[in-house]
Amino acid sequence: MEEEMKRISIVGGGLAGFSLGIGLRRHGIPVVLSEAGTYPRHRVCGEFISGLDPATLEALGLTGILEGAVSHRSTVWYRREKEVFSADLPEIALGLSRYVLDARCKERFLALGGDLRQCSRICSTGKDTAGQVWATGRTAAKRSPWLGLKAHFTDVATTHGLEMHLGDQLYVGLTRVAPDRVNVCALVRGPLEKRTSRPEWMVDIFRQRGLASFADRLDAATMDEDSVVGVSALPFGRWAGERVRGEPGCRLGDAHRQIPPFTGNGMTMAIQSAESALPHLRTYASGACAWPSAVEQIRRALARRFDKRLRLAGLIHPFLTHPWGQSMLSLGRGLPGRPFDLLYHALR
Ligand SMILES: Cc1cc2nc3c(=O)[nH]c(=O)nc-3n(C[C@H](O)[C@H](O)[C@H](O)COP(=O)(O)OP(=O)(O)OC[C@H]3O[C@@H](n4cnc5c(N)ncnc54)[C@H](O)[C@@H]3O)c2cc1C
Repeated sequence: MEEEMKRISIVGGGLAGFSLGIGLRRHGIPVVLSEAGTYPRHRVCGEFISGLDPATLEALGLTGILEGAVSHRSTVWYRREKEVFSADLPEIALGLSRYVLDARCKERFLALGGDLRQCSRICSTGKDTAGQVWATGRTAAKRSPWLGLKAHFTDVATTHGLEMHLGDQLYVGLTRVAPDRVNVCALVRGPLEKRTSRPEWMVDIFRQRGLASFADRLDAATMDEDSVVGVSALPFGRWAGERVRGEPGCRLGDAHRQIPPFTGNGMTMAIQSAESALPHLRTYASGACAWPSAVEQIRRALARRFDKRLRLAGLIHPFLTHPWGQSMLSLGRGLPGRPFDLLYHALR
C-alpha cells in the first residue's frame, strides 16, 4: 500500500513541517523531512499558543502534544512601566517551551516511521519540484531593522498569563511556560545599544529602552543562559514587502506568510497551514491529482484561512512600536472588554 503512494519531501522541521509530516505519516504516506538544524533547541518565540482548536490537533495526529502546557486566562499590558490595559482572555491560551515541543514532535514523527534528516539544508532551485513542500520558516528581509530576542527565567512571579511591556521601539512578552519557568521574548528595532559584557545583556536593552522596573524584576530572577537566542532581519512593516512573493511551489507556516508576533498566533497558523494542506497532499500522494493542481488548491485554502488576519495584524503592528500608537492604547483602558474580545477573535 505504502509503495503505491507518492513520497512527500518536507523542507524545514519547525511546527509547520512536523505537523504536516506527522499528519501524512498517519495516513501511511512516505515522508522525508530535511531540517537544517538539530533537535531539541531553543527558538526565538513568545511560546504563547492561542486560538488552536483541539480538532486541528486531532486531524493531524497531534493530540497530546501540548500536554503539561500552562493554561493562561488573562493578559496585562504596560506602556513604559504604566499599566494601560488588562483583560481576561476570551479563551484559554497555553504556554509551552519550543524546546519541549520540538522534542515531542521529533519523537512522534519518528515513531510513525518518518524519515528525518537533520543537519540537512536544502537549497531552492527556483523551480517547483513535485511532492516538495517548503516549511522553512520566515524569509529574512535583509534591510529590516527588526530583531527577535528570547530567554527563559526562573524565580519570576506573575499575575497574568501574558504580560506585554511596550518600550521605545520594542515590545516584550512574558509568559509562563512551565510551573517554574517564564519565557521572555522581545521584538526590538535595531540598531541595538552597545552590548554589555554580562550574560543578561538582553535585560540591559530593556532598561535602556524605558523598561527599568521590568529589567530590575528580571535581574532579581535567574536567567537560563542556554536558552538565550536571537534572530535578525525579521520581515515586518514595510520590510514585509521584501519577501519573495509568488515563489513557486507549496509553502506552509511562516514560509507562506509571517504574522507579527504580538498576535501570539504564528505557531497556531503553522499548524493550521499543515491542516489545510493535508487533504490536498493526500490526494496527490494517492495519484488522484497532479502536483500543480494540489499546489493551487493549497494556495487557495491558505488565502481563505489566513488573508484577513494577516492584513489586520499588519495594520495593528505599527501601533505597538510607535509612541503615538502606544499612547492610543491608554485610551482603550476604560473600555469594557468587548472590543478586545472582538479584536482577539479577528486575529485568529
Ligand atoms: C520574536 C517572535 C516572537 C514570536 N512569538 C510567538 C508567540 O508567542 N506565539 C506564536 O504562536 N507565535 C509566535 N511567533 C511566531 C512563531 O514562532 C512562528 O510563526 C512559527 O514558529 C512558524 O513555524 P514554521 O514551522 O513555519 O517555521 P519555523 O519554526 O521557523 O521552522 C522552520 C524550520 O526550517 C528550517 N529550515 C530553514 N531553511 C531550511 C533549509 N533550506 N533546509 C532545511 N531546513 C531549513 C529551520 O532550521 C527551522 O527549523 C513569534 C515569532 C517571533 C519572531
